[in-house]
Amino acid sequence: MKKTPHTEHCCSIHGCKYGEDSVCEVKNEILLQSFPCDLCIKDTRSTKKMFDDRQGVTPEEIEQKFSYRIRNMEKQIQELYRLVNQLRCNK
Ligand SMILES: [Zn+2]
Ligand SMILES: [Zn+2]
Repeated sequence: MKKTPHTEHCCSIHGCKYGEDSVCEVKNEILLQSFPCDLCIKDTRSTKKMFDDRQGVTPEEIEQKFSYRIRNMEKQIQELYRLVNQLRCNK
């Protein structure tokens, strides 16, 4: 698994510790965080479950989940381009 400063400090539940939620790989579920964050440790109920859930997850399942998300994003981007083109034409 790729590591970045975000995977080492940020949390998909508690957010980016650098205040960069929009680019944070962990907050945006592009990469899995390496550790529970300090808030996770205080709030063990929700996050213990999250880590337990991930224990049994195979790389194939992760790939499936992400390829679905990527397909969704591609659709949204196409929709955006369509809207931009429409706006340009209306001028
Ligand atoms: Zn972050
Ligand atoms: Zn956390």
